Amino acid sequence: MAKVNENYLKLRGSYLFSTIAKKVSEYQNSHPEEAKEIIRLGIGDVTKPLTPAVLKALHSAVDEMGNSETFRGYAPDLGYDFLRKAIADEYKERGCDIDPGEIFVSDGAKSDTGNIQEIFSEDSIVAICDPVYPVYADSNVMAGRSGSFDEKNDRWDRIVYMPCTRENGFSPELPEKVPDIIYLCSPNNPTGTALNKAELKKWVDFALEHNSVILFDAAYEAYITEDGIPRSIYEIEGAKKCAVEFRSFSKNAGFTGVRLGFTVVPQDLEISGVKLNPLWARRHGTKYNGAPYIQQRAGEAVFSPEGKKETKALVDFYLGNARIIYDGLKAAGYEVYGGVNSPYIWLRTPNDMTSWDFFEKLLNEYRIVGTPGSGFGPSGEHYFRLTAFGTRENAEKAVERLKKG
Ligand SMILES: *Cc1c(COP(=O)(O)O)cnc(C)c1O
Repeated sequence: MAKVNENYLKLRGSYLFSTIAKKVSEYQNSHPEEAKEIIRLGIGDVTKPLTPAVLKALHSAVDEMGNSETFRGYAPDLGYDFLRKAIADEYKERGCDIDPGEIFVSDGAKSDTGNIQEIFSEDSIVAICDPVYPVYADSNVMAGRSGSFDEKNDRWDRIVYMPCTRENGFSPELPEKVPDIIYLCSPNNPTGTALNKAELKKWVDFALEHNSVILFDAAYEAYITEDGIPRSIYEIEGAKKCAVEFRSFSKNAGFTGVRLGFTVVPQDLEISGVKLNPLWARRHGTKYNGAPYIQQRAGEAVFSPEGKKETKALVDFYLGNARIIYDGLKAAGYEVYGGVNSPYIWLRTPNDMTSWDFFEKLLNEYRIVGTPGSGFGPSGEHYFRLTAFGTRENAEKAVERLKKG
């Protein structure tokens, strides 16, 4: 008799964004007129179209696919050399020495951050920031590493939670129980806070001392505007011996629908004498047939001089929205964080309202959709996330409404 993977049955509720979509559609049904005014600052998806350099690369790659001389079939599992080299060159410009052979091209950072746990032992102790992108916890629940869910505590009992709250400046503290695997996300989704060099060094030193591995999600590195904040963990000495880094073309170049990302697994990274690079190569080669040629040419264009300029303009546009929302909320009397090195604005709910109560209030009274902080982890309770990925007009309108309220 077939049996399901029971770990899947442990997963909590429905995915956060499906719950939000359901609540918004209920509101639309009960308030069809008001619902026309809804401003969506909830889901972390971009809205601006692809840039000219990317479009040009896409069109010409499509043409190549239509010609028998230049047609391409299966891509190399780990990525085309032209893209891996362009990525390695970009690291070089930042002073990080990453070899193309250490770069694995994929369909995005969600797959990679979700799949990477497969190459670690089933009994590994996993540490995650709280709140954070839900993929790290959920993928480890599916793999059977989470233990059972403690309802009273609102936590998995085998996962180490590292609270990131206003009390510690949203910077995770070294846990008492030493984890085997440490997920860090900087700039963090959802708090919008980034780790500075000293903070990141503390983590690298800790991982080296305890033979832990850091899984560093740098999906928002392009949003870093302040000095002293590393864009890559490899800017920290020793990180190549203890860290994997994930990157994406989604939030910088608008590839959320195109799909492209990559992961760096350095050759120096070993656990008890076993190199992780060939393990991940084996996993990739067995379960993945390579990102499409067309997308990889588009990714290469992101690193071209025009591509870099255009991507920076995209990011600057969203950061401009972030500034408007951040300043507007401040002026309206809210306690606000993030928004400076991140497209996310993280606010404390007024009068200690729960995150979901505040969600309802924002939807019903202001017709603004955001994301309840508690959906990202128990320490996200009493916080709320707004994104800067909308239009300028909507950012301004949202702020006007909030100021009036
Ligand atoms: C959006 C996001 C990703 C996913 O990026 P894709 O490349 O589109 O899969 C990964 N990590 C974090 C923290 C994100 O917010």
